[in-house]
Amino acid sequence: MTTTQTTCRKCGNCCKKGGPALHTQDLPLIRNGKIPMSALITIRKGELAHNPVTGLQQVSVELVKIIGAGRQWNCCYYDENDGCTIYDHRPHACRLLKCWDTQDILAIIEKDTLSRFDILDPDDPLIPVIREHERICPCDDLQEIRENIGQLSDKKKKELEKRVRDDLRFRTRIIADYKLKLNKELFCFGRPFFQLLQALGVGVSESGAGVVLRW
Ligand code: SF4
Ligand code: SF4
Repeated sequence: MTTTQTTCRKCGNCCKKGGPALHTQDLPLIRNGKIPMSALITIRKGELAHNPVTGLQQVSVELVKIIGAGRQWNCCYYDENDGCTIYDHRPHACRLLKCWDTQDILAIIEKDTLSRFDILDPDDPLIPVIREHERICPCDDLQEIRENIGQLSDKKKKELEKRVRDDLRFRTRIIADYKLKLNKELFCFGRPFFQLLQALGVGVSESGAGVVLRW
């Protein structure tokens, strides 16, 4: 089918599929407060995330994205009546996204993207904490888990349950020590590991022994 569209109709459909990943060109927007850190969420390397063109796929580099509105995928800056509420200061990816011609946006996916370490001050005491979290709670095996979800060994399931508990324990301690609000936690550590497993269909419940995974 040939598309006749040549301009943006401002329908907002692209803004309802999740906030954009930020690129190096967007750093001034964060530095000057147009897009505050509280509006950002980290997608850690290895997570499965929505790609604006290809759909759900594992990310090969860390991404920092604009957070959704509440529990919705909608970009937090999208308003049903007014459209983009930061239009003049919208990120690089939003400027390039043309749903009728994806060449430009495809060319920048996972290229020159910002990570937590580009955004935080080099002396920020949370930097070593983030590195420690990456060590105790990696997520580089999510694609493998997704592909083998029905055949995981008991050993692997136990290891994943331990990772979920370690992640929650770590977050609880750091949130208390650094008095972190939820949005700063999501920027520093991304989504809790149990949520990443839930997205793969794994059941999560609490027992006296802590979090239990149901396969
Ligand atoms: S780029 Fe396409 S999907 Fe996004 S607002 Fe414009 S017309 Fe709608
Ligand atoms: S920043 Fe604006 S243009 Fe970009 S996804 Fe959000 S609402 Fe849409």
